[in-house]
Amino acid sequence: MTPKDVLAFAKENNARVVDIRFMDFPGTWQHCSFPIGELDESSFENGFGFDGSSIRGWQSIDASDMLVIPDAKTAKMDPFFKHPTLVLIGNIADPITKEPYSRDPRHIATKAEAYLKSTGIGDTCFIGPEPEFFIFDDIRYESSQHSSFYRIDSKEATWNTGKDEGPNLGYKPRPKEGYFPLPPMDKFQDLRSEMMLTLEDIGIAMECQHHEVATAGQAEIDMRFKPLLEMGDQLVWFKYVLKNVAYRNGHTVTFMPKPLFGDNGSGMHIHASFWKDGKPLFAGNLYAGLSQEALWAIGGIMKHARALCAFTNPTTNSYKRLVPGFEAPINIAYSGRNRSAAIRIPIGVDSPKAKRIEFRTPDPSSNGYLAFSAIMMAMIDGIQNKMDPGDPMDKNIYDLPPEELANIPSAPGSLEEALNALKEDHAFLLKGDVFTEDVISKWIEYKMEKEVTEVRRRPHPHEFQLYYDI
Ligand code: GLU
Ligand code: MG
Ligand code: MG
Repeated sequence: MTPKDVLAFAKENNARVVDIRFMDFPGTWQHCSFPIGELDESSFENGFGFDGSSIRGWQSIDASDMLVIPDAKTAKMDPFFKHPTLVLIGNIADPITKEPYSRDPRHIATKAEAYLKSTGIGDTCFIGPEPEFFIFDDIRYESSQHSSFYRIDSKEATWNTGKDEGPNLGYKPRPKEGYFPLPPMDKFQDLRSEMMLTLEDIGIAMECQHHEVATAGQAEIDMRFKPLLEMGDQLVWFKYVLKNVAYRNGHTVTFMPKPLFGDNGSGMHIHASFWKDGKPLFAGNLYAGLSQEALWAIGGIMKHARALCAFTNPTTNSYKRLVPGFEAPINIAYSGRNRSAAIRIPIGVDSPKAKRIEFRTPDPSSNGYLAFSAIMMAMIDGIQNKMDPGDPMDKNIYDLPPEELANIPSAPGSLEEALNALKEDHAFLLKGDVFTEDVISKWIEYKMEKEVTEVRRRPHPHEFQLYYDI
């Protein structure tokens, strides 16, 4: 859509309000609304002003004025608001120079796409994320068992928590058995369909929805793959729609990677492939039907995997998911069929167009714009430097004897380790000025100060179990 088309689209839909949205640094959507009369063609150049000092990780108070300039290509009608509202996603700019703001995650994704083109490797990076999430009741109380501010949906109350069980455990998924019997075991078919169809209604092509493995309302809903920036935009819509559909039905949704101890966590596996001139570049006749470029791209992800985790697994909770036994990868290896490896090549995909790699380490607490861009930069680095990924690992890594395991590098054990890895290894992200030194150092500083240190300073619920009676 052009600015003119957007104005016509707003009129057709009787929009009375325009809501301008942008992504903050850690990955939460922000917004501000205006009467529709405030939007004209010049708004797409001049933008709207706001105070950048109140946005996490951005400007200091003495340089706080910023602009958000809407991108006409992103226009959609909001599916929830009572008053018909046009939504536009914006890019952040300096109010005087109109230069794009270097810490704007969407700008980083825009530069990442431009950099791919400039390398001549390909013109499109397709991304297909598989976000998993939990559905809990919308009642906040502190469970003595988990010490969390959620309540497991009583309809799928679990065997392993026993917290809010009624006397009858019939038709309730056992731990790790949620994948995927029909109702009455599965209680969320209608809710997930409502989420999926609401996304379709706003023009997002959907692939499937299903219950996931964990017992208490874990689910996965998948969108059809799209180019990187477009998928970054769609992922924020996705989280917004899921949270609001859940909320209006008396539930909440969380993308926290490991809300429940002892059951599967939520990953966001990322499928990726490069294309050039309408042709897929990852199909070939090497291992698992891959091309040489695809193997080098795998080599790039493996080489930089520990640093990538700072963006793909960016919370302290992320590392509670990356433990053996729950289908989440802990080692940096690749394989044609192995779900315990960090990189899987989906087999049974015969069409060259569908040939892709699946990076399984990422989780849905990541900021999509940053995570997708960082992964793509690692793939580019792998291809540019012809990085050999070594031999595939076709055994179950969880069951390997320690002497074999010792030879396979592992994912970081904590956010702090991942941030340290990023500090040491980020030259591949700076190419094409995609990520800047400022973005990298601010990210590390923000995550260390606001998350790692703050979590470390607090007594942990499990410490009460271990030490209360000491
Ligand atoms: N929930 C698992 C994870 O944490 C993945 C399950 C699956 O393969 O879909 O990555
Ligand atoms: Mg899944
Ligand atoms: Mg998957």
